[in-house]
Amino acid sequence: MHSAWGMVDGNESWSEPRCTGGRRALIALFASASSVPTAGQHTQNNTATERNNQSMCRLDPPTPHTNAPAAASPLSHGQPAFTARRLTRTTFLITEVDDIYDEHPFIYAKLIPVARTLLLLDTGCGGATRAPDASFPRLRDFLERAPVADNSGRALNAGGELAYVVVLSHCHYDHILGVEQFAGDSTIIASGNDPAFLAPNVLPEHSLCANLRIQTPSYTPILLPHRAPISSAGGHPLGVELLHTPGHTPDELALWDEEEGMLYVGDTLYEWAPIIFPNEGSIVEWLDTVDNLIRLVEGSGKASTVRIGCGHKTAGGGAQEVLLSTKAFMFDVLAGREDVKDRWEKRGEIHVRYAQSGGRYSLICPERLVEEARKATNFKM
Ligand SMILES: [Zn+2]
Repeated sequence: MHSAWGMVDGNESWSEPRCTGGRRALIALFASASSVPTAGQHTQNNTATERNNQSMCRLDPPTPHTNAPAAASPLSHGQPAFTARRLTRTTFLITEVDDIYDEHPFIYAKLIPVARTLLLLDTGCGGATRAPDASFPRLRDFLERAPVADNSGRALNAGGELAYVVVLSHCHYDHILGVEQFAGDSTIIASGNDPAFLAPNVLPEHSLCANLRIQTPSYTPILLPHRAPISSAGGHPLGVELLHTPGHTPDELALWDEEEGMLYVGDTLYEWAPIIFPNEGSIVEWLDTVDNLIRLVEGSGKASTVRIGCGHKTAGGGAQEVLLSTKAFMFDVLAGREDVKDRWEKRGEIHVRYAQSGGRYSLICPERLVEEARKATNFKM
């Protein structure tokens, strides 16, 4: 095991160089192939946590055309493909409600008018919706034209008057398929933790686009170091810090909005749907990441009020409690206190599923990752 973050003199310090000015160490620019098929869309509830059992970053191709009766779309005629609600003073939670992949990704939009910027965390599934008559299937159109009740009935970026800075929590398809809508005129940011993981020749595989037999979007991210502050194109600080949080994937990142006490963690964890690790994931690294996030929250001086925003399902819950309880579930898995519910082969590896009684936390991953983590943590089976 290794730890990217450390403690010195009781204060958090970081073994990677701390970035002091906007985007430093702009490591690499990658491009891949193409554009993304579009289609229809869906609705969002306003609860902090959604409860059902859809899988995130699924590895199976969608099957929109089958003989089975199609599930009814939750969207009524002409409803937008996205919903938005206010999460904090500056930030809105956007949900892609009826994508054909059943991912329903969470997208976060932080409005910083003083910097003339809208900071966007992730871009969703690119408008591939199940409802053919949904309005605003493109995220950018939704942002610039769709009225949002929690924003006094105005679009979040009416007329496109704010520039975009787009941060990708990681490269899985359900977070990047909308990125081409912004790639031509906006800053796109990704983690600089493992530039090779995002190289153009492997992005189709690592994004899972190849497995789904869909085109990989073409974009050229700026890769930022751990603890880089995010700035507007004009250099105005946006009040958010980027953290490398490998585990789900090597490029998984988190955003820390210290002023608002919000921690955005992408697919590192969430509730009420399986936490999924692809073949490229690492539970060993994930455990380090979760410990580091716990230390960050507990060292913030306001641990009891910090809230968490995830890539799916969970938005607005107490960060400390969610982090600690997710870690406890993972320890139950590693210690053998949870039984394997299913075992099957996927992408050339045996996968296993664990599910907590009550369903709050569950896990799907290659069995190898569990075995590696047991060795690293001395959990003997
Ligand atoms: Zn993912």
